Amino acid sequence: MGRPLPPGLTGSGAVLFDLLDTPSSLWRYGWTMIPASFRLEIAARVEEQFPRAVRDLEDLVRIPSYAAPSAPPGVLMRSAEHVADLLRGIGATDIAVVSAGGGPGVIGQIWVDDAAPTVLLYAHHDVQPVADDWSTLPFEPVVRGERMYGRGAADDGAGVVLHLAAIRALGEDLAVNVRLFIEGEEESGSPTFSALASQYADRLAADVVVIADSENASPEVPALTTSLRGVSDVTVTVRVADHAVHSGAFGGPILDAPTLLCRLIATLHDSTGAVAVRGLEPTGQSDVDLSEEAFRREAGLVPGLTLAGSGTLADRLWWRPAIDLIGFDSVSVAESSNTIQPVARARLSLRVPPGLDPALAQARLRAHLAEHIEAGAELEIEEGVNGPGFRANTDTPAYTAARRALSEAFGREVVMHGLGGSIPLASELSVLFPGIEVLLTGVEDPDSRAHSGDESVSLPMLRKAILGEALLLHYLGLSGR
Ligand SMILES: [Zn+2]
Repeated sequence: MGRPLPPGLTGSGAVLFDLLDTPSSLWRYGWTMIPASFRLEIAARVEEQFPRAVRDLEDLVRIPSYAAPSAPPGVLMRSAEHVADLLRGIGATDIAVVSAGGGPGVIGQIWVDDAAPTVLLYAHHDVQPVADDWSTLPFEPVVRGERMYGRGAADDGAGVVLHLAAIRALGEDLAVNVRLFIEGEEESGSPTFSALASQYADRLAADVVVIADSENASPEVPALTTSLRGVSDVTVTVRVADHAVHSGAFGGPILDAPTLLCRLIATLHDSTGAVAVRGLEPTGQSDVDLSEEAFRREAGLVPGLTLAGSGTLADRLWWRPAIDLIGFDSVSVAESSNTIQPVARARLSLRVPPGLDPALAQARLRAHLAEHIEAGAELEIEEGVNGPGFRANTDTPAYTAARRALSEAFGREVVMHGLGGSIPLASELSVLFPGIEVLLTGVEDPDSRAHSGDESVSLPMLRKAILGEALLLHYLGLSGR
């Protein structure tokens, strides 16, 4: 560090101050240098109001906003109304709780100037139900060390808080029009997103959308997500008879339905474990080198487990398909008896390489299943929901602004990575608003355990991400339309 820090400036402010001594990294993108004092001012404001952001996040975690029959009645609406209050708190106008039949979302806006660019800020307030083991109560936020634990602390309460805090930090200096869309059915697969977005297109239209629902490379290293796999699923039922029969009297000439279904599922992968369905080839490759050791640790793999497929880990996760058996109905071991089961059912989840139409990918999976069912068993395939993947154009002014803002806030170069998961609205927004620039940011990291027990967010990372988004909005304002 070349200079002493101004009093009271720590954390992300310190990182920023550090960077001021190495201006080469700031000039790289060819932007007009804004006064350092302004960036320090924003960093100081982020510091000052960070406790408020933490409180906002704690309040969000306390609302069990998941959609399941077991959820407290009306909880999604209560959550949406709470978010609407938060939007009111940052001075947003035209706030509405909206739905096209799905979980209620919240929209609002802060309009500063007709001539300024418009940025849509997206996050979601619904969360996953809790099924896994938790070491604390999932809906009671707990801060341990540098992390806050609780359902939605990372996915995606942190995204909601990120937007609010960035806007608050900019205050009167906000130089873009901001539209906010806090979705209420993301964890259910956004079934009515298209309908909702079409219905409110004039309230969502923007030049740039910031989707804060993705992951950084680590709490210290910021990332922009530039590709996403699509997602699809099918439910497969295999039937061999109209009733169960005694396995002593009938076993041998008949293969039971669960066995035939297992044999069918086994044809989906080759001997290395790579997907063996024709037409589901990789659509690209990555130069990111992921640590296999970290991957194994994060997944909690048993020692010595062989990883499936070939090629780099990043390619297998981001550019190749995956098929997983996510549900299987047959008789449970506890209720089993010596009978030949006539029917079995399985749900298969398909991750689709970016750029491949998920409906087409699903059709290829169905064709494979129909081709490989054995013994003339009856096969019924129920089509699941398709979510498109995403491939970003990274050579745009908004990407340049985002790389600059995040690298300044974190004090580290931004990693451009893919994501194995899906955020269907990334591509749906591109279709609905042609020309819109889609930025995928977020406040998760590889240890966040989104969707699992002990979900958490890194608070120092949240603070850096808030500064990053505030700077991003500022640079987008400078860039004009
Ligand atoms: Zn999410």
